[in-house]
Amino acid sequence: MEVLKTIAEMRQARKASKKTMGFVPTMGYLHEGHISLVRQAREKNKLVAVSIFVNPTQFGPKEDFRTYPRDTKHDLSMLKPHTDFVFMPSDEEMYPEGYDSWVEVKGITDMLEGSARPGHFRGVSTVVLKLFNIVQPNRAYFGQKDAQQLAVIKKMVKDFDVNIDIVACPTVRESDGLAMSSRNTYLTPEQRRSAPVLYQSLQLAQELAKQGEWDALAIRKEMTKLIQKESQADIEYISIADNETLKEIHRIKYPALVSMAVRFGRTRLIDNLVLEE
Ligand code: AMP
Repeated sequence: MEVLKTIAEMRQARKASKKTMGFVPTMGYLHEGHISLVRQAREKNKLVAVSIFVNPTQFGPKEDFRTYPRDTKHDLSMLKPHTDFVFMPSDEEMYPEGYDSWVEVKGITDMLEGSARPGHFRGVSTVVLKLFNIVQPNRAYFGQKDAQQLAVIKKMVKDFDVNIDIVACPTVRESDGLAMSSRNTYLTPEQRRSAPVLYQSLQLAQELAKQGEWDALAIRKEMTKLIQKESQADIEYISIADNETLKEIHRIKYPALVSMAVRFGRTRLIDNLVLEE
């Protein structure tokens, strides 16, 4: 496994081989969710590259950029059995003085995480396009855990004719259903005990839809009731939307994306489930 810190080094490494490459962009503090993406990249490609970069431009001024958990040593030891190249640029390498270009995907960034976190997807799509240009993989792997991010990247790749296949990977969960996330580490023991309610509420939505409940508002009400039983949980939004346009729906129409952001103290967790027929 080679660790590359500059764009020039990464380009050089890519140039040295014409083999197929799968790429997994991450912000580090890796867990089994990330590793599942790396494994899927390994299965379909001769080479695997992973980036570790806590991208400053996708964090709002009041968000956790500075406190975002970091542990390079642990990350590298997790990657070693599965990875050929780890790209770990500095902030200055990615955004040198005078940096002035931004990628903006319109429309699907207006709602959900886009409206809760203004500028977030501009930062995400900009850094992902830069990483794609630097690493030049054949395929790139993204988690369904960040459903809207996945939709934004797919749209950007389509609109900009980027010649990379985007592969969606299922959400990996802890045994109690909590979606794995680097931010779970912020939770107090009490909040951690409450946090599986997110997945429970998603399963409730799935169950209600299966039983024939077609009214999205009624489903959201039941989910809200369940989550509010946890005194630590503070709902930011619960959405039931068309899985492609991400526009809210009133009647259940498959496939539907049920998604949410819930705060536990200062920690903000997101989760989602796609309802299918
Ligand atoms: P992050 O380091 O949070 O930027 O995540 C890097 C990639 O890993 C993104 O494509 C995420 O969607 C994906 N990811 C994060 N958590 C999970 C999870 N629990 N299961 C599957 N993929 C995940």
